[in-house]
Amino acid sequence: MNAASADQTILDSAALVLNRSWLAIATTTVREALAMMYTGTARAIRPETYEVHEFDSWASLAVPPDSPCVRTVTLRIRVPEVIVLSRLDRLPPRAVPFTRRNLFRRDRDTCQYCGAKPGRRNLSIDHVVPRSKGGESSWTNCVLACLRCNRRKADLTPREANMPLRKKPKAPPWEPTLGIPIGQFRQSWERFISERYWNVPLEP
Ligand SMILES: [Zn+2]
Repeated sequence: MNAASADQTILDSAALVLNRSWLAIATTTVREALAMMYTGTARAIRPETYEVHEFDSWASLAVPPDSPCVRTVTLRIRVPEVIVLSRLDRLPPRAVPFTRRNLFRRDRDTCQYCGAKPGRRNLSIDHVVPRSKGGESSWTNCVLACLRCNRRKADLTPREANMPLRKKPKAPPWEPTLGIPIGQFRQSWERFISERYWNVPLEP
């Protein structure tokens, strides 16, 4: 592989995009990430220190030994693997598909009434407002319930059953897979994706 095509491969590889709250919302190409840094739309995050850099200060960082870099006529620039939007959140998060798998992830395999974690086989999906009373199948009306709570609640609303929810159910804040291209997951993304996902505060 010659130098020019190596550079193309690096420029086409993936960078993780965080919104201004440091939530991972998308992936883009390193080429686009550099363009966004250059125009001030985004800044690069140095994954090992969480330092945030504008284009110029990023370009002046030393490239770690044995790491790929982007070459210009005069510079060798470290590859930005994670960027954070600085102006507009111009990449809106995509809606999370309402699926059984994602609902179990959102509720962390936990009964939303009693807090039990009895294992996936002993959890069912409960309609907060029962379907018989017009309750929809949606992120805001469905929660995990253990079999005991599900039986007890039966066809009642939480108020009628005197079974308050521990948290108000809502759609997860981002799409769990982020459209990450196959084989392009970077080690440096891990902390931004997993920690943020599980630590997003749920509204009371
Ligand atoms: Zn329960």
